[in-house]
Amino acid sequence: MDFKSIIRNIPDFPQQGIIFRDITPLLAHPQGLTSIIQGFQTKFAELNIGKIDAIIGIESRGFILGAPLAMALNCGFVPVRKPKKLPSAVFRVEYALEYGTDSLEIHQDAIAEGQRVIIIDDVIATGGTAAATAKLVQQTGAELVGYGFLIELDFLAGRNALPTVPIVSLVNY
Ligand code: AMP
Repeated sequence: MDFKSIIRNIPDFPQQGIIFRDITPLLAHPQGLTSIIQGFQTKFAELNIGKIDAIIGIESRGFILGAPLAMALNCGFVPVRKPKKLPSAVFRVEYALEYGTDSLEIHQDAIAEGQRVIIIDDVIATGGTAAATAKLVQQTGAELVGYGFLIELDFLAGRNALPTVPIVSLVNY
């Protein structure tokens, strides 16, 4: 499936100069999600990273892609959420945005020490969000063994901000 021909490009959203990569037409396509999940499965299998205990999905488009991938891999799904959404005890990480800061949270007991996890999101841009999520995983004591992104914006070199684990991306701009 030619993902690029189905992903919609929205210039100047949410601000001037940004080309927003809108994945909703791809999600709406009858074979879209199936093709994305097969793409992730094939690439992770090629990497031989072994057994995965959980997929960590970043709110909110990481949930849409992470949950079916967890089903396909027969492993758990763990949400990383914006502040004050998770009801039980959390670990929190604060990270820098272009203007100001943002935070992400994970339930402290969501993954156990030593469990092998993959972080999933729709887009890696600067890598700030994905790097912050790695810090949350580190706090739980789980082992981060890979990242999966549907889209990687190569010109922002976000992967340089991430820990040195295998990174899978299905579409590059
Ligand atoms: P970053 O922390 O800079 O890597 O940004 C990643 C987050 O911002 C992801 O969760 C994306 O959903 C979103 N994002 C950043 N840039 C874009 C873009 N050009 N199109 C769509 N989503 C984007």
